[in-house]
Amino acid sequence: MRKLALHWQILIGILLGIFFGVLSIQFNEGKEFVLDWIKPFGTIFINLLKLIAIPLIIVSLIKGISDLKDITQLSSLGLKTFGLYISTTIIAVCIGLLLVNLIQPGSFITDNTRQEMLQSFGGEINQKVDEVNKINERRGPLQVLVDIVPENIFAATSSNSNMLQVIFFSLLVGIAMIMLPLTQIEPLKKVLDAANDVVLKIVDIIMLFAPYGVFALIVTLIAEAPSTDMFKALSIYAVTVILGLLIMVYLIYGSFIYLFGKKNPLEYFKAILPAQLLGISTSSSAATLPVTMECAEENLKIRKDVLSFVLPIGATINMDGTCLYQGVAAVFIAQVMGYDLNFSQQLSIVATATLASIGAAAVPGTGILMLVIVLESIGVNPAGIALIFAVDRPLDMLRTATNVTGDLMVATLMNKTKL
Ligand code: ASP
Repeated sequence: MRKLALHWQILIGILLGIFFGVLSIQFNEGKEFVLDWIKPFGTIFINLLKLIAIPLIIVSLIKGISDLKDITQLSSLGLKTFGLYISTTIIAVCIGLLLVNLIQPGSFITDNTRQEMLQSFGGEINQKVDEVNKINERRGPLQVLVDIVPENIFAATSSNSNMLQVIFFSLLVGIAMIMLPLTQIEPLKKVLDAANDVVLKIVDIIMLFAPYGVFALIVTLIAEAPSTDMFKALSIYAVTVILGLLIMVYLIYGSFIYLFGKKNPLEYFKAILPAQLLGISTSSSAATLPVTMECAEENLKIRKDVLSFVLPIGATINMDGTCLYQGVAAVFIAQVMGYDLNFSQQLSIVATATLASIGAAAVPGTGILMLVIVLESIGVNPAGIALIFAVDRPLDMLRTATNVTGDLMVATLMNKTKL
């Protein structure tokens, strides 16, 4: 029997997940059944993906860098990659701001709905705001840099939110390897090659479980979803975010791929579909990374040294979807809460949302947490995130898919550039 392509397997998992999820909420005991018997499989799947993400980053980044010719080649790759990441992120937040100012989704929210949202989620949100504020307490302007440098690599690898520290360490090892004569590092290179093959095999094994894992994730999501009334009230806001994400993915990335990547956008979108679908199912760029890399190598035929540098870094810092969403969400919350934002405040959203999206960990729901920082920078009460909480998960799914698409777009362009 011929094996079904990965994107079909995942798509079938998603569709069956929607079907059984909707079915489960029709029955009294449905939710309990899902939580007891289906949710754990989704959690296992996500855990497996996260489990392999850190070894994958370490091995492939060190290998990718040490395969480069010299430091000049690395700095050229690094500078161009960062340049593209930052520029696409700024384009994304500008699109978000443009749409939210045009559509004004805040004007569709009644006083009643506002009260209801603030009451339903107020407690939980205040706790989140406190958490973020505690982390930010007494943080100097250079703390961001300090946070990137780990004092202990084992401590850094112990949590998925320290990804930047892991990247820093891998960069350091890779750079040291480029600087040493080849004869001296030959044995280490061989070990890395073998380790890389093992990690990729593990990814293949995990992906055998993908359709079932995705199914379990989607069923659980629907069984746990908040009431549909709240969905309706927030529909214009959600449509604004979705419209922005669609423009970013199909218009902006599509044009970049066509103009600078010299590739047919349709072929590109077909090649990256498994990564997009997994991004939607897991809401985590880090968990999706193994498949993002597989799509880049096997479907887009991107050079190994390029993709193993560009993609792990992209999954961690390049979040165009998150940034776009933060622009829309910040202005929407301000609109509903009656703040009138002037031009310089909107400009400050561009800066803070760009930084907040870089700082957001590549796991579910961090975009909304970092929104606290954006709101505080423009003087809007951060408790306002309670207003958008009800629809955040579906938007997280879509922004994650956008984030992953952006990383793959930059990898495609970098593959074309002469280093
Ligand atoms: N879940 C997103 C990601 O992993 C981050 C976010 O919450 O926006 O890319």
